[in-house]
Amino acid sequence: MTPDFQSLTQANIVEFIGDVFTRRGDEEYLGEPVTMAEHMLQGAAIAEAQGESEEIIVAALLHDIGHFTSEFGTFSMDDTEDRHHEDAGAELLEQFFPSVVTDCVRYHVAAKRYLCAARPEYFGLLSEASVHSLNLQGGPMNDEERTAFAKNPNLEDIIKVRYLDEAGKDPDMVTPGYEHFAPMVQRVVDRHCG
Ligand code: FE
Repeated sequence: MTPDFQSLTQANIVEFIGDVFTRRGDEEYLGEPVTMAEHMLQGAAIAEAQGESEEIIVAALLHDIGHFTSEFGTFSMDDTEDRHHEDAGAELLEQFFPSVVTDCVRYHVAAKRYLCAARPEYFGLLSEASVHSLNLQGGPMNDEERTAFAKNPNLEDIIKVRYLDEAGKDPDMVTPGYEHFAPMVQRVVDRHCG
């Protein structure tokens, strides 16, 4: 039987996430030419091809898992599609994953706002849908927000995952499925949980 949100453990979290990928992955990624699963698998596959660490690959793979908030027992009828999906994802993951992974998830929206302020060329990478949500998310950071954000010890990795987020929107890219990454996800969990 598939584990439910209330009874997650180090031994079943990887299967739980795989089940979410299987049942919900075909949903559209609002305004993008890829499904949610394709989007996250593409980010992970690109990270793997670039030789990134397993933590970065896994962070890219799971960065949008919070879009499926109804799976995590935190769903409210007042929730809109995109409301705090980064927080919902980080809350699920922080029980089992190291802070570098959860920070990359928790701050991937903030990272877009940061990069739009800090790196002028970054804005050009954004998809139309991402520009639209940028405005809903508060637009580019101001100087004060930027300075505060840059203090995060995982800043470099957070930015890396944000670029992988942008890269994973290719309608023609073929990637391995979740099962390819599952053993790696388990290794990251086991290293953290011991
Ligand atoms: Fe994303």
